[in-house]
Amino acid sequence: MGAGVVGLTCAVRLAEAGHDTAVLARDLPPETTSAVAAALWYPYRAAPREAVTRWSRTAYDEFSRLATQCPEAGVRVVPGVELLPGAAGSPAPPLPWWQAAVPALTPVRDPRPGFAHGWRLDLPIADTSVYLGWLAGRLADAGGTVTRAWLPELPTTGVVVNCTGLAARALTGDVDLHPVRGQVVMVARPAADQVDRDDEWLLDQSDPQRPFYVVPRQHDVVIGGTAEDGVWDTHPDPATAAALLERAGALVPALRDAPVTGHRAGLRPARSEVRLESVAHPDGSPGGVVHCYGHGGAGVTLSWGCAQDVLEMVESLR
Ligand SMILES: Cc1cc2nc3c(=O)[nH]c(=O)nc-3n(C[C@H](O)[C@H](O)[C@H](O)COP(=O)(O)OP(=O)(O)OC[C@H]3O[C@@H](n4cnc5c(N)ncnc54)[C@H](O)[C@@H]3O)c2cc1C
Repeated sequence: MGAGVVGLTCAVRLAEAGHDTAVLARDLPPETTSAVAAALWYPYRAAPREAVTRWSRTAYDEFSRLATQCPEAGVRVVPGVELLPGAAGSPAPPLPWWQAAVPALTPVRDPRPGFAHGWRLDLPIADTSVYLGWLAGRLADAGGTVTRAWLPELPTTGVVVNCTGLAARALTGDVDLHPVRGQVVMVARPAADQVDRDDEWLLDQSDPQRPFYVVPRQHDVVIGGTAEDGVWDTHPDPATAAALLERAGALVPALRDAPVTGHRAGLRPARSEVRLESVAHPDGSPGGVVHCYGHGGAGVTLSWGCAQDVLEMVESLR
């Protein structure tokens, strides 16, 4: 159940492992929360840390493979910087808790004014306007299907993988799962000679609960950074968009006056911990449900790692 990045990735893994796989989803890939994501690999608003680091690492490796071997997937591994606040000369920060998930990261030697420290690293970016469709195609190549269907409840027979994102709250009665609203603005990509090749993506961690980011994709640049806990509204707010554009122009002069190409807002499926577990059907009939939801601000980042665990759980149910 579910055709966001989590459901599609699980379905690809299952179908490629030889399982008969049918995705049923109320919203098809371009209509999902996953399509709103800036889709920068970064473990944000997702727990527990140990599992998130392991899942993220698996996904980092797979995205790196796609970037070099499947240009049509819309994935690139891109250099950039994470900027950390503080007064000049303040002590160096600890390494990020997810550091083991990336092959390398180095301190920024001379952070720009207003920032004390930073990390320079290469991160995968999936252009969701390309990548989700490519995933659906890869699923079809492996014999899987995607069908639009709204299921009022979880099926109670067979093997079910529940990748319904925030909708799992109503389907399972899980009140730990809640929305964290995020808004983004898309602008046209500046001319190649105006792009700083060493700092293609930028993450401003002045407020770690609400990082501000500039994420370049193939044809546009995603500017984002709002996070509103418990807010269910998916309409983009014009004042928020104006503030995002102003901040982006201050950080990246090439983006000042860049034509705006789109506005989106979406609801991150946040939970105290990602729920990835297998449960039996209520009447004990064969099969069961593997729940895989609550990926917060990191559904893309965790996708391939979680899909690997889902495959193992499905195989242990059969
Ligand atoms: C502004 C913003 C920026 C983000 N940036 C990033 C980022 O840079 N990197 C990153 O890793 N993550 C990012 N995220 C988070 C990421 O988008 C989510 O973690 C991810 O989309 C969750 O994917 P999902 O497949 O679980 O859910 P969804 O994409 O919401 O998909 C759920 C699917 O389940 C289906 N469904 C639900 N209920 C039913 C039902 N009853 N019957 C049938 N089908 C059903 C839906 O129709 C849909 O197909 C961002 C999110 C937002 C909002």
